[in-house]
Amino acid sequence: MKLCSACLLGVRCRYDGKSALNKKVVELLKTETLIPVCPEQLGGLPTPREPAEVIGKKVITKSGQDVTEKFTHGARETLKIAKILGVREAIFKQGSPSCGCGRIYDGTFSGKTIKGDGVTTALLKKNGIKVITEEDL
Ligand code: SF4
Repeated sequence: MKLCSACLLGVRCRYDGKSALNKKVVELLKTETLIPVCPEQLGGLPTPREPAEVIGKKVITKSGQDVTEKFTHGARETLKIAKILGVREAIFKQGSPSCGCGRIYDGTFSGKTIKGDGVTTALLKKNGIKVITEEDL
């Protein structure tokens, strides 16, 4: 059993109200149990919502609103789900300020990326949960 970014499974939970349906991830459902989670929705953010990017230790929307607390809350709730279910692995959406693993947008909203983890990925990793992305499949 693994956690999975809900958007990769076709749930329309992204900031723009769309999904990020990934055929390879959906294919895994034939052999594995994937638990869909959206940390940003779990953190209390609406869908659609303003895009946000990690800037230093904060998460800031394009218009400058500090949404760090919501992202942190969503990360904690996601970790809670992992602990309740005893899940030790996650397949997350690359690049996201919550779910990105090893690569996130650089905070300039220009599409450029830098090395780094999303807020939820960082918390899961700190708690010994292995995170990979759809790009690793
Ligand atoms: S927070 Fe994660 S699951 Fe939710 S839309 Fe963003 S990438 Fe997908």
